[in-house]
Amino acid sequence: MMADKQEIVYLDSCPACGGEVTASRLLSGLPCERHEKWGFEVSPLFGRMSLTPRPQQERWARFYLSGFSFAMVGPDGCGKSTACIAFCLHSLSLGRRVLLLCPKGEVEKAEKLGIPAYPPTELPEGKADLLVVDEVKEFRKVEEVRSAVLERLAEGGQLILSSSETLARKKWFKKMGLEESPAVEGKRVLMVVESPTKARTISGFFGRASTRRVKGTSVFETPSPFGHLSLLATGGHFYELALERGTYGAALEDGFKVYFKPLRPQVLEALRVLSLEADEVYVATDPDAEGEKIAWDVRAVVSPFNRNLHRITYHEVTKRAITEALSNPGDFNRNLLHAQLLRKVEDAWIGLPLSTEIQRVFGIKVLSAGRVQTPVLGWVIERGNLNKKERVELINLTLSNGFKLVFKAPKGTFDKIREEGEVKVAEVSEEVRELNPPPPHHTSSLLMQASGFGIPPEELMRIAQDLFERGFITYHRTDATTVSAVGMHLAKQYLEKKGLSELSKSRPWTSEGAHECIRPTRDLDAGEVEAGIQEGKLPPLTRRHLFVYGLIFNRFLASQMKPAKVRYQRVRFLAGGQEVEVSLPIEVLERGFLEVSQLALSDFRFEPGTVGVSGAEKRMVGKEPLYTEGDLIRLMRERGIGRPSTYAPTVQKLREKRYVLRVGKGGLVPTKLGREVYQYLTERYPHLISEERTRILYQKMDELERGRAAVEEVVEELRREVPLDLEGGRK
Ligand SMILES: [Zn+2]
Repeated sequence: MMADKQEIVYLDSCPACGGEVTASRLLSGLPCERHEKWGFEVSPLFGRMSLTPRPQQERWARFYLSGFSFAMVGPDGCGKSTACIAFCLHSLSLGRRVLLLCPKGEVEKAEKLGIPAYPPTELPEGKADLLVVDEVKEFRKVEEVRSAVLERLAEGGQLILSSSETLARKKWFKKMGLEESPAVEGKRVLMVVESPTKARTISGFFGRASTRRVKGTSVFETPSPFGHLSLLATGGHFYELALERGTYGAALEDGFKVYFKPLRPQVLEALRVLSLEADEVYVATDPDAEGEKIAWDVRAVVSPFNRNLHRITYHEVTKRAITEALSNPGDFNRNLLHAQLLRKVEDAWIGLPLSTEIQRVFGIKVLSAGRVQTPVLGWVIERGNLNKKERVELINLTLSNGFKLVFKAPKGTFDKIREEGEVKVAEVSEEVRELNPPPPHHTSSLLMQASGFGIPPEELMRIAQDLFERGFITYHRTDATTVSAVGMHLAKQYLEKKGLSELSKSRPWTSEGAHECIRPTRDLDAGEVEAGIQEGKLPPLTRRHLFVYGLIFNRFLASQMKPAKVRYQRVRFLAGGQEVEVSLPIEVLERGFLEVSQLALSDFRFEPGTVGVSGAEKRMVGKEPLYTEGDLIRLMRERGIGRPSTYAPTVQKLREKRYVLRVGKGGLVPTKLGREVYQYLTERYPHLISEERTRILYQKMDELERGRAAVEEVVEELRREVPLDLEGGRK
């Protein structure tokens, strides 16, 4: 185990004063150093009254101890009045000014305990630090009392209401601007995810879900076998790097420090309130480095309020997977957190200053540069140059039997063919090939296939995200092809249903890492999913979503089927002195996976001799084709300078910043601006943006993820690379 010299500093996040606080203190359940006294020791509160608190009273006590104003709701006899007394006694012992408003019959009892108590009709003058209103229904006219009560509340004072009556309480809470902490029998469980779509999907698994607003954030609630389940969505990252601190948000002094500030403060508030209510908290964000960073932020915010905190991960949003995850909670992963911190700091120290400089030099506000983006731009430029330099003929011949022969050839070939008026069939042979299905999709192969159908990478990722969050497919950011036992079973089940059991062949396609391939979560093809949607059994999807689902389903199903055997005719042509070889599939001997994927058989057969040319066209093209977005994504994966989460954004940025243009059938050419920016960067900062350096950085991230490197050492190394003149953002 390596010494941990890394610290996150959260700005505006101390639960006691709203100031700066370190992650280590929060994770130990403490606020900042200025507030040593903290913690929810509930038993002394009630011990004073020789009482063992009930679970609901304990929850209310935690609310009380947190200093929040809140409302207790529950039927008569559930222990609200006892809790009111306990809170008043506790506050008195701390020297706080206390005021209890309660039904006439209770006043004397409270006074005997030394609590300043009054019936609702006789409010005394003066301010209170704790103002408790027991049984708000006693107040007939809300308007009358509201201002009187609020007037008596000292600044920063705590207001607690209790009620057993629904109507009165609703009115009151609204008027007082309070949120309720309802009494629910049994266990309460809080689950935290990133997206509202995911929260909605999960809330639908266990019964009829309802929604509630907490601190301005929607919360889904449902009974479940694990307790009363509340689902809160953080809306993605709710902290961002505090660039104004350290060097662009990070510092190397006494180890490695990173500064974050709240991006959505209301999420912090909602997390605090909900974790006070809950008996157990489960952090259920995505199973990768980004999701892990969000998980650690949630852990830090919640720890002072609830110590019963667990991390769960799952690769599909289905009832089975969620139930399994809740039954087997895992650990928070410090290695993944460190990898994500490195990524953030790398971007802040290198991407940001370079972008700022480029914006200044070229006078365009939105330009950007980056360790991945810039080398990829280099590939487009290099290929664009090559494509321009070496030009060849793209010849399209229609032979007398109707066959279309398309090939590239050196200049002059076309004229020669036209002179000859025929091509020679030099050799014909037959062969039987066994064809294996390709592995199921991972992020980059799916992006490539979809881009072939004209779906741009950023749109594909959006669709895949929806499909994942609505429970149709497994996690869509993955480099793996591995198929789990559940996946293999699913394919088997589908083939059985279709009477194709004899074509089934389970294949695990095992690859490195903990992730799975992208596959469907149900044994339903796109047509069956569409029918399910029409019958209202499945959540709605657009045409585009269904199309992408179909791509994923078919590729996965094929990967779980037997190979095919196909007879080919191989034909070697001589055309204008050039050899051109084609392979024509002419007969399927064993269907195998071809049952579900397409192979167009050729109607043409050739015999040695000559064939006339009935039509001929040519176009000048580059010998090497321009790269497409799909090519760039494939290359990023092959050359190890991207991740499933960065493939799409990288190619999108190149286009958005107008560094490259899409021409013809999706080929990419560099623009003048793209060339100039690239030249500027490679001349001045070759060491920062070289492909090799980027690859090394990604290897470091891998090492961090696997726990084979210490984050402060990797950052130290990074720091040495960043030239001093970049520190201020300009030369
Ligand atoms: Zn503080």
